[in-house]
Amino acid sequence: METQIGELYEQLGNLKNDLGELIEENHRLTIENKHLRTYLNRDHVQEEKKTTKKKREATVPGEGFDNLARIYKEGFHICHMQFGSPRTDEDCLFCLELFD
Ligand SMILES: [Zn+2]
Repeated sequence: METQIGELYEQLGNLKNDLGELIEENHRLTIENKHLRTYLNRDHVQEEKKTTKKKREATVPGEGFDNLARIYKEGFHICHMQFGSPRTDEDCLFCLELFD
């Protein structure tokens, strides 16, 4: 009986330690979570700003685009894959994607 009580007491002590560690970890994770949310929100806002800017640029076809179209018609790739290299007679799907 006395031994059992001793063991139980020891277990109780261990549980208290575990609980303390869990509370600390929980606290740490809560703070980390908060930081990450702030970070994500800020990132999200910046991403939205970028997209609206891109949209605005896309609605105004620039001189650069005309130049690319001309280069393509002259028979060269304007896609990232093979930019500047001569095209074969067939159209390049990657290049055509840029015209959309
Ligand atoms: Zn191409």
